[in-house]
Amino acid sequence: MGKLSFEIVTAEGVVHSDEVDLLVVPGIDGEMAILPSHAPLMTMLQPGELIVRKGGEDTSIFVSGGFFELMNDKVTILADSAERVEEIDIARAEEAKKRAEEKMGLRTQTDIDAARAEAALRRSLMRLKVVERRRSRR
Ligand code: ATP
Repeated sequence: MGKLSFEIVTAEGVVHSDEVDLLVVPGIDGEMAILPSHAPLMTMLQPGELIVRKGGEDTSIFVSGGFFELMNDKVTILADSAERVEEIDIARAEEAKKRAEEKMGLRTQTDIDAARAEAALRRSLMRLKVVERRRSRR
């Protein structure tokens, strides 16, 4: 079977690039498994886990959401941030979660602040979930 070439691009540049057998991506409507020879596809992603399978081995990457594009076995993910599971700082994610929960508890904030706190909460929860899932797979 062929391979998928994929790249994750953030504001920092290309943070990940590889030739792989399978990708599972956190689509806006749920997880999508992508194999080589898939039809062209463009969609949005939600904050979550990207699973990369290569030579029978799976690796996990947190993506903060963004855009997914697939054409001719080439996948490009544009995300605000992306970290390999081993790069996730658990204490930092827990702090971010606490801060977001505190902000969401304030009654005085504007809708924009509330939406921002909710998005930050979702990112921190997903970072922790990616770490947790990795542990439970071992
Ligand atoms: P924080 O409030 O801790 O900054 P955040 O969700 O607001 O969290 P992002 O805006 O998603 O952070 O990311 C900013 C940068 O920090 C990105 O480069 C991202 O990869 C990195 N980053 C954020 N949280 C973590 C974490 N828990 N572990 C490792 N890197 C992180």
